[in-house]
Formats: sequence, structure tokens, C-alpha cells
Amino acid sequence: MAIFTASLFEFIGEVFIYVLAFVALLVLIALLQLVVSMRVHKFVFPRFQSVLLDLLHPIIRALFDIFRLDPDQLDALDIRLKNIINEEAFAKTPVQDRIIVLPQCLRSIECPAQLSSKDGIQCAECGRCPIDAFKRDAEELGYKLYIVPGGTFVRRIIQDRRPKAVLGAGCFPDLIEGMRASEKAGIIPQGVLLDTLGCVETRVSWDRLYDKLYLGIARRQGP
Ligand code: SF4
Repeated sequence: MAIFTASLFEFIGEVFIYVLAFVALLVLIALLQLVVSMRVHKFVFPRFQSVLLDLLHPIIRALFDIFRLDPDQLDALDIRLKNIINEEAFAKTPVQDRIIVLPQCLRSIECPAQLSSKDGIQCAECGRCPIDAFKRDAEELGYKLYIVPGGTFVRRIIQDRRPKAVLGAGCFPDLIEGMRASEKAGIIPQGVLLDTLGCVETRVSWDRLYDKLYLGIARRQGP
């Protein structure tokens, strides 16, 4: 019995070491891919890279902390990766199956909109912030646009609307978490990072949002 127990512990120890070595190898591959991607400004095997980053995110983020690297850079790369690997599928999704989710912090501080418990903040199209024009253009194309006060709202809207694709804007943690959750739920994500952080009157590149808005849709020619 004692011999059996000893060999069992030996076996578990060996398996543990193999698993540890395998994880270390994956981390090494992910880090090498990151370094090469940053040097050549191009992602190497982007889909594989994105899977590795999602799988090993806590470990790689801890390494970034240890080596005093900016962890936001890691999230920024991950967002770019997810945009690249999902762009084609997003463009092929009918616009009626896409939704847009914008954070409430993009609004004017004098926003008169009311909050609906079902659909988020109901933009009154008052013109005090750029959401007004963007919303009109998006809805004309067939999108449904939501302004949300937080992640719980996003989950509820996704449950109710069941879109096939979602275009969102947000700060680092919200955007990357939202894009990861979308992929897990089988929803095709596209995301644009906010240019400024904070809780009120944040800014975003509306040009980049428009580029994504028109993915797979021919733009109207000017007069
Ligand atoms: S345009 Fe809409 S979101 Fe912007 S401030 Fe006016 S009501 Fe609020």
C-alpha cells in the first residue's frame, strides 16, 4: 500500500512538472509572438496569438507587472488582434444583426437623456455631443445603437437582442473584457478604444468608429 501511495505521488508530481513545462512553453511562445509583432508591426498567426493571450492573460499580465511594462499595451495589442481576426466576419454580417454599444461617459455633461431600465440611456438627439450625428447615421444604415451605463446593461441587451455582431467603444478593461465575452458567446466583436479616460466627457476617434460602422457597407458618395 505504501509503495502504491508513493508511486501515485510520484506520478502526480511528474504530471504536474509536465503541465508546468507546457504552460511555460506556451508563455514563451506568446511572449516571442508579442515581441516579433511589436518589432515588425504585424501580427504573426493572429488567431493563434489571440487564443494564447486570452488563455494566458493573467500570467502574461503578471510578467508585465514584474518587468514594469505597461499592461495597457498588452490589452491594446489584444484589442487590435481581435479587431483584425474578426473584421471580415463582422463585414459579412447583415447590418440588422449588428448592434453598437457606446459608454455613457461619451455624453455631454449637460446631457438631457433619460435612462431606460431596458435599453439604457435614451439619446434625445440634442446635438450637445457627437453621439447625436453618429446615432442618426448608424440608425439610417439599420444599426441599433445603445448608450450603456455599465457591463450589466450590455449583457442584458445582448440577451434580449441576440445580435450576431457588436461594435463597441470603451476603456481598456471594459473593451477587452467585452470583446472576450462576445467571442465566447459567438458574437463577432469590433472595438475602438477611448482616447481619454475618466467618467465624464471622454473622447473617442469618431473616424475610427465610422470606419468600423461602414465595414462591409458601401459609403455614400458626397454631393
Ligand atoms: S446628443 Fe444624445 S447623448 Fe449626446 S448629450 Fe444630447 S441627448 Fe445626450
